[in-house]
Amino acid sequence: MSDVFNNELFEAFASASDNVYIYVCDMKTDISRWSRAAVEYFGLESEYIKNAAAVWANHVHPDDLDTYNNDITSVFSGKKRYHDCQYRARNASGGYVWVECKGSVIRDAEGTPIIFAGLMTRIDGQSKYDSLTGLMTMQELHHFDFASQSGAALLIGLDGFRKIISNYGYNAGDEILVKFAGRLSSNAESGWKLLRFNGDEFLVLALGADMQAAEEYYKRLRKSIGIMMLADGHKVEISISAGGVFFPNDASDREMLISKLEHSLEYAKNCRRGDMVFFSEEIARKHERGLILREDLKHSIKNGFEGFELYFQPFVNPDTGVVAGCESLLRWKGRRIKDSYPMEFIKVLEEYGDIRDVGFWVMEEALRQQAAWRDRYGELQVSFNVSYQQMTEASFADRVIASAEKYGVNPENIIIELTESCQVENPKELAATFGRLRDYGFKMALDDFGTAYASMEMLKWLPVDYIKVEHSFIRELAEPGHEIDYVIVDSLLEMCRRLGYKSIIEGVEDGRVAEIVGDMHATLLQGYHYSRPVCRSEFEKLLEVKQQ
Ligand code: C2E
Ligand code: CA
Repeated sequence: MSDVFNNELFEAFASASDNVYIYVCDMKTDISRWSRAAVEYFGLESEYIKNAAAVWANHVHPDDLDTYNNDITSVFSGKKRYHDCQYRARNASGGYVWVECKGSVIRDAEGTPIIFAGLMTRIDGQSKYDSLTGLMTMQELHHFDFASQSGAALLIGLDGFRKIISNYGYNAGDEILVKFAGRLSSNAESGWKLLRFNGDEFLVLALGADMQAAEEYYKRLRKSIGIMMLADGHKVEISISAGGVFFPNDASDREMLISKLEHSLEYAKNCRRGDMVFFSEEIARKHERGLILREDLKHSIKNGFEGFELYFQPFVNPDTGVVAGCESLLRWKGRRIKDSYPMEFIKVLEEYGDIRDVGFWVMEEALRQQAAWRDRYGELQVSFNVSYQQMTEASFADRVIASAEKYGVNPENIIIELTESCQVENPKELAATFGRLRDYGFKMALDDFGTAYASMEMLKWLPVDYIKVEHSFIRELAEPGHEIDYVIVDSLLEMCRRLGYKSIIEGVEDGRVAEIVGDMHATLLQGYHYSRPVCRSEFEKLLEVKQQ
């Protein structure tokens, strides 16, 4: 028996963490050994304690004593395999802290208990209930035995919650969370458990629910939120997405359940916003790809932007058909992932903030290339794309100007395209950056014009030179039944003319469209009709044709 108390394992476990305490009890002698940290923290008389059950019961909060005793009795009587309960315990300074106590009984061949051992984790500061919403905290999930119950676990997240907070403030955010928690529970069936997962995500354990019950709940919930009226009179549109996992089939323990739920919610938010998506192998594969993609991108960036390359797509003069310049478009091949499209990898770069470094590489490459071409083919209008995130960097304008000077580029021949223009959080700062670059001579463009609801409004405060009309309006312009596209593009170009903006029409896929938008006096045309984006040497072939 002395082995149990004295071996090095006990010492090793005992020193593993500051707020985890271990205990081992020899049931025959009724002597227990407690880790030094436990002795000090709880003010026990020594490491070895006789009749520890009574001594420890004296530390348990009177209100929690029944919970504690019932659990211990069930374990010793053999009704329960493991001791696992949370209660408040008194520490050396006389205050009570929440602990989670887990332990198990080892029996001899006759079934008589010989050792009782376990650990206690301090979970003070982690209340059972979330103070804002009143729902249970994730701590409660420790009690839940996923293997022996069945149902659906739903992780429900509010879409764009950060945006809501930045628009309406933290108090409004709190008010929405409280109201939403109310709807979660008023739509739930009795016996279901509702927990606050983190900031704006909630976990519903729909015990006994099958796919149909889970979907009906989600439908009811969505219907009950819609537009929320806040105390200050603001009306906020609320939308949600959710991930779902069935237990025990998809996950039989807490870690697996949470991981699958997070992947499913991430997938719903990215690919099927507004929906509830249940975990599937496809989601697992997508998640795995996302991880590899990220690692590959990091590797490329660390190794001097290895695998990144610029492609170029010509801008064509509608009157002469001559190549007047090009848009620089980023391409990338990773160590393992070789087939990622810009839409995919640029999103990842943006998500992790790496677009700033890669964006500067793009800018340098585009300027260097413009200077090299100028010497061989004459001046060209070369554009490159910039995410809003890049523009928020204080040194952005200085760095672009420094590069232009380094390569001796005339800024008049460089077009800077701002992508995803709808997410502007600080208009003043953006307008100042645009102004600075324009004053230096660069041409500023609003990309994908017409897609973001704010694009039109942006013209009022953002000094720009070019409007790039989104290709979804252009591609089918000449097809019967697409008169509305015709009217939209015609009106946009009329607006450009009256406000003195130049225009670039993307997505010109055939000659008829080229003719139509040419007649509308577009400044430059771009699209598969002329060329797909091509590598440098292919683009140079197009320039050589121009020279003949
Ligand atoms: P974008 O700036 O709107 O670029 C135009 C996209 O339309 C390009 O896709 C191009 O290949 C495609 N396109 C061109 N002509 C046609 C056409 O006639 N028909 C159709 N259906 N599509 C056409 P790509 O190269 O896949 O780029 C996708 C997006 O990735 C770009 O959209 C841009 O937002 C972003 N992007 C590309 N390079 C960079 C970069 O260096 N930095 C940043 N921040 N974003 C970039
Ligand atoms: Ca662009």
